[in-house]
Amino acid sequence: MHLSKVAEDLLINLLCVFAVFFLVYLYHDRKPRTERQRLYVLILCSMLGIIACMFFSIPLNEQFRLDLRQIPLMLGGLYGGIVPAVLLAAVTMAYRVIQGGEGIYSTFIILALQVAGLYLILPYFRSMNTNKRILTTSCLALAASLNVIVVMWLMFQRSVPPWDIWLWYLIIPVLGTAGITYVIESMNRSSLLRTEIARAEKMSIVSHMAASISHEVRNPLTVVRGMLQLLQYDDFAADKRHMFLRTSITELDRAESIISDYLAFAKPMPDKLQYLNVVHELLHTVTMVQPLANMNTVQITTNMKTAAAVVQGDKQRVQQCFLNIMKNCIEAMPKGGLLKIHALQQDSDVQVLIQDTGIGMTKEQVARLGEPYFSTKDSGTGLGMMVVFSIIDAMHGKMKVESEPGKGTRFCITLPLAVAYPEAAATQQ
Ligand code: ADP
Ligand code: MG
Repeated sequence: MHLSKVAEDLLINLLCVFAVFFLVYLYHDRKPRTERQRLYVLILCSMLGIIACMFFSIPLNEQFRLDLRQIPLMLGGLYGGIVPAVLLAAVTMAYRVIQGGEGIYSTFIILALQVAGLYLILPYFRSMNTNKRILTTSCLALAASLNVIVVMWLMFQRSVPPWDIWLWYLIIPVLGTAGITYVIESMNRSSLLRTEIARAEKMSIVSHMAASISHEVRNPLTVVRGMLQLLQYDDFAADKRHMFLRTSITELDRAESIISDYLAFAKPMPDKLQYLNVVHELLHTVTMVQPLANMNTVQITTNMKTAAAVVQGDKQRVQQCFLNIMKNCIEAMPKGGLLKIHALQQDSDVQVLIQDTGIGMTKEQVARLGEPYFSTKDSGTGLGMMVVFSIIDAMHGKMKVESEPGKGTRFCITLPLAVAYPEAAATQQ
């Protein structure tokens, strides 16, 4: 086998891999996709990549074909997870069997070693930044090539191809993998940026909506005014008068909640940062919503796996953030249910999970959460979740919402822990 021919064929392989990951990129870039859609496309494209590489593989001798299938397998596994990795390995194996010939056992051993390597590296890979990821995937590509070489050498010592072929086999995958990882990373960054921009846009709408707020408040006030005018004349029956009073109170409550929700939102940056014990604030909020929960026969369970997670924020706003979410959850369970509240401390942040067994939301509804005036309730303000997002933003936190209609909703809030804080904050009760 001529050396330049090997290099040429390997480059064709690399082109295939680039092409499939470019497809993934195009798919991402067209419009925002859900996590699941992205995963499926990643798996599908990695499969395509593997098959394309194997299709254009270079038969070096009877037992052995050289190609870059390890790159899509590795990248699909690292960005998709261990299940996709196993799936991709299975596809590789199946295609190898279809290709026939000898060397099927060696393929199996190589794949098993690759999947085991991915399994070990995955937990670390997730928490790496872009540069470390590029370095890691390049090293892994080198390791994967070496793995193939070593297995080959152990199994078919006599018929191993010359060393200069291996040199290409070491260099091309490493450079290719570094490039592709860079593309995937910029792709992820741009989609992250897009959601951030969408959120920022929402915020700017709201900061300009004072006018519409006054309109929203004027409506209930007009109703109340009308009712009071009617009550001036006392020739109404007692039940009618009650009805007027009830309506007035409801409308005033509505006006009040619009104003307080808006005010909390309009000033997203806390004036005075305090050190807050997250568990303490959560438990305090639970006592606040307990009466509402009792009314709806909702049972609240708490599981705090941290006692001293301290964050920086404004006490009332943090409570309002938790309160708005819990209130929504309880309101989503009119026939009763379970509200689970968990707190869990990780390396440098604390995770708060608030989960209900209520009516849930469709994907479209989840996407609209946080939009001003988005409400599916008759007397809703549609400002509660907006306030939640703005408070979490102000604390440099993140929130993920998962929901399924009929099953329930899960809010996962991640807040960065305060770096240095007085002892008193951690033990505050
Ligand atoms: P409001 O509660 O006044 O309607 P929010 O901003 O608090 O306004 O919530 C907006 C909408 O999001 C709600 O009307 C509801 O449709 C949906 N929602 C929020 N939380 C939940 C939940 N836990 N389960 C189901 N739907 C929810
Ligand atoms: Mg609400």
